[in-house]
Amino acid sequence: MADRLETLMADIDEPVSLMHVCGSHEQAIAKFGLRSMLPDGLSVRMGPGCPVCVTNMPEVDEAVAIAEQGATVATYGDMFRVPGTKKSLADARADGASVEVVYSASEAVELAAANPEEEIVFFATGFETTAAPTAAILDADPPANFSVLSAHKYVPPAMEVVAEMPDVDIDGFLAAGHAATITGYGLFEPFVETYELPIVVGGFEPIDVLLAIERLLEYVRDGKAGLENAYPRCVSKAGNEQALETMWDVFETVPGEWRGIAEIPGANLVLRDPYAEYDARRRFDVEPVDDGPDPLTEQCICGDIMAGKADPDECDLFGEECTPSNPVGACMVSSEGTCKIWDEYGGHP
Ligand code: SF4
Repeated sequence: MADRLETLMADIDEPVSLMHVCGSHEQAIAKFGLRSMLPDGLSVRMGPGCPVCVTNMPEVDEAVAIAEQGATVATYGDMFRVPGTKKSLADARADGASVEVVYSASEAVELAAANPEEEIVFFATGFETTAAPTAAILDADPPANFSVLSAHKYVPPAMEVVAEMPDVDIDGFLAAGHAATITGYGLFEPFVETYELPIVVGGFEPIDVLLAIERLLEYVRDGKAGLENAYPRCVSKAGNEQALETMWDVFETVPGEWRGIAEIPGANLVLRDPYAEYDARRRFDVEPVDDGPDPLTEQCICGDIMAGKADPDECDLFGEECTPSNPVGACMVSSEGTCKIWDEYGGHP
């Protein structure tokens, strides 16, 4: 496969820049040293594919505010130490608030059922892969003491924003196979038509990633846009129709700020009115904190990294003031964050 990529790049005979939009792809690329196999002139960059990293500080602040009002906030482990404007949920717990780490939305519901005298708020983050299960539990009449603080995000509008950024030059996108398992790869057809760029859906084994890169280079060589599913053992064109139906029954899209990237139309998922009784934003006071981030946080270039404009080692704080045990930005917290991944496995070969 490495020889094949070499041949394709020789045919193209100019630099090519591809973007993936998934922390799991970055993990596979870094963990298996795939960048060391890429021919000269081919760069594969990470885009806005880490849901924890794009969760905005005011959303973390909302979760902290709810925990400080006496409710138990349940969230995924990756969110626990993500800094808000002043505090992370880990800080709030150290100060006496009740915060629990759960592995799934259904575990948060179990927590509510086991503790009927407590308010349990599930701080729900992630893309379509986790939004669908959150929707499923809301659709199944959870206990009255259960509610959801949704920070779920919807990827396609973010890809459009990145494709339109004047200082980001991308020749093709490697789309995430697990999200496409839910959404179906047909979802990307309008994007391909509008932006005239190739998209290939890829899996997560090293050979899956290389195969998707090979397909993208074929499109680039032929000067064509197009859509291809290079992960057919999991992904279909229509996706998981039952999961999609439930997800869109429960959630609607609204404009939302993705941390460090932009205000993106239609990219945040919030509960529709019929599910208002489970909406933590309507049940609790979640007034945003407005006294500004600390100066160290302002030096974080996580947004530029997720827009494909910079690499972690271009951040002055990388590996110095910012480490996995003392993270400044969200990209150093999540196992899907580029800075954390590069800290663990290295970045450039
Ligand atoms: Fe932000 Fe830390 Fe990454 Fe720098 S190294 S961009 S401060 S998360």
